[in-house]
Amino acid sequence: MELLHLQAEVLEANLEIVRRGLVLHTFGNASGIDRETGLVAIKPSGVPYEQMTPTDMVICDLDGKIIEGRLKPSSDLDTHLELYRAFPAIGGVVHTHSEFATGWAQAGRSIPAFGTTHADYFYGPVPVTPELSAEEIEGDYVLNTGKAIVRRFCGLDPSAIPAVLVAGHAPFCWGKSVSDATHAAVIVEELAALALETLMINATAQPISEALRDRHHFRKHGPTATYGQR
Ligand SMILES: [Zn+2]
Repeated sequence: MELLHLQAEVLEANLEIVRRGLVLHTFGNASGIDRETGLVAIKPSGVPYEQMTPTDMVICDLDGKIIEGRLKPSSDLDTHLELYRAFPAIGGVVHTHSEFATGWAQAGRSIPAFGTTHADYFYGPVPVTPELSAEEIEGDYVLNTGKAIVRRFCGLDPSAIPAVLVAGHAPFCWGKSVSDATHAAVIVEELAALALETLMINATAQPISEALRDRHHFRKHGPTATYGQR
């Protein structure tokens, strides 16, 4: 993929999360990776969205070495890089502080799969990480946030569960491309709002059955998928 093409996609994702109301001020960032070259394009730090152009997207390698760009990369870069290193199937990462998903993250609760809307996109709850320790926070905090996410996914498939809530912080979402990651961020916010409404109506509501979860999830994902035009 041409770098400029990747930069344009990443810029578009950063603008889309603002248009979707998932980001206040500059509390959000999107990145994408070209797996052939291992180069990552990410939003620059603290630049007003209305002024950003594709070439403002900073290019770095998987070790965080800046390859191209005159601006500083997003301060969350090391979390993004840790996800790219640990999850080889993903091509984009989106981080927001969207209202409802952040509420669940602050409450330290995973979002239960209460309905088929959830099962269509996530195979099981949207997990929450454990809280970071004082050492993790005082040390390499941004990298340690990524490591906490990766540890939480031990035994989970990041392709079937394309987001996580970082405890006391907010969601990180991903996908095969940065536009898929943006889509996941929109969906997580919707699922977070729906789950809250579900519990407000019935505080003892239970997740959907495994049968209903599987019916919906595998309708859209995997070798037996039948959803859409083929
Ligand atoms: Zn954040």
